[in-house]
Amino acid sequence: MDEKLSKLVQDRVGGAQPVCLFAYDLDRLTEHVRTVVASLPPRCRMFYAMKANSGERLLRALAPLVAGFEVASGGELAKARAVGGQIPVIFGGPAKTPAEIEQALRQDVTRLHAESVLELHRISEVATRLGRIAEVLLRVNLAGPFPTATLAMAGRPTQFGIAEELLPEAVDTARRLPGIRLAGFHLHSLSNNLSAPAHLELLDFYRRTVRQWEREFRLEVEVLNAGGGIGVNYADLDEQFDWAHFARGLPAVVDAFPEHCREIDFECGRYLVADCGRYVVEVLDIKRNHGVDFVLVRGGTHHFRLPVSWQHSHPFTVVPVEDWPSSAPRPELRDAAVTVVGELCTPKDVLAREAPVSRVRAGDVLVFSHAGAYGWEISHHDFLSHPHPEHVYYGDSA
Ligand SMILES: *Cc1c(COP(=O)(O)O)cnc(C)c1O
Repeated sequence: MDEKLSKLVQDRVGGAQPVCLFAYDLDRLTEHVRTVVASLPPRCRMFYAMKANSGERLLRALAPLVAGFEVASGGELAKARAVGGQIPVIFGGPAKTPAEIEQALRQDVTRLHAESVLELHRISEVATRLGRIAEVLLRVNLAGPFPTATLAMAGRPTQFGIAEELLPEAVDTARRLPGIRLAGFHLHSLSNNLSAPAHLELLDFYRRTVRQWEREFRLEVEVLNAGGGIGVNYADLDEQFDWAHFARGLPAVVDAFPEHCREIDFECGRYLVADCGRYVVEVLDIKRNHGVDFVLVRGGTHHFRLPVSWQHSHPFTVVPVEDWPSSAPRPELRDAAVTVVGELCTPKDVLAREAPVSRVRAGDVLVFSHAGAYGWEISHHDFLSHPHPEHVYYGDSA
């Protein structure tokens, strides 16, 4: 744990309320994102997928570093515009309303990612009414077969995108409609991928697929959006996605794209922001039930639903707190495998299972790492009406 976070925790221990906060290290964030963006070859652009975390301070720190923001609702677009009127925004989402499409066009988004034939009609209608032409990518749900290395992650049925077999109709519609200019395709087809070679292979598969469509439909693709989906390894923190490998392999894959393809977009969420955030909670109690050692904390899945949503045990470290201002005996476990749970009245409120600890006591503080993406954002904050955590942003960039 860094010094600043340590001080932040020390300042709060023994206060009126138990420690419970999200801490965001903005220096760590900007350093990571700078490295990622700087290693991209020409034509590649890194957008930030805002749904991973749309906290304003994070967005302000990211805005000068990334190519722009990827948004998937009118609300996210408003947050992007609150940070900067000129920031390039690309607009996706599987069920856009006509009002959102109008908002997007009025607020000058760079492109829309269309997810159905009906949506193409809606976009064209709104654009025509406003006297504009909307630049559009068709989001395609690929039929596969995918390259073997990526099989586990792509090609499942979802509500996203246009089925590949319906592509001829969609391309034809996009070309006919007066309010639309078809610029290319959008192919986000996986989540939390940890393999850099597989990601390169997938991008090359996208290239071959798009080349085939160019021949089939007699068109030139100017923009390919390869989506996000670069992962974080919560199970083994030492084995992360090998970005350096990915960056070394990327130029060769990108060089094989035809010259008329002027832009290859990535829109990553998790990979950019997960690492900068930590969820910090105080241990309220410790008990043993039916042979399991439970550690109960202030907070839980109403703040940090990520582990239940991905059904994993989230990594944490114990920060020992020496003060114990009570006359009651202090519960303590040594060399135990603990299940960390929150304060909700449901057995699903679990943050970590069977996690080995050398010692943990009531009053100690747990620091959950990699909590910056899909943490607070995806949680049901008011279930049981407990207090919300504090959100602290620190670092010289804060
Ligand atoms: C969620 C999402 C992303 C970001 O995904 P990560 O796994 O966080 O990188 C990018 N594009 C689309 C269309 C998405 O739905």
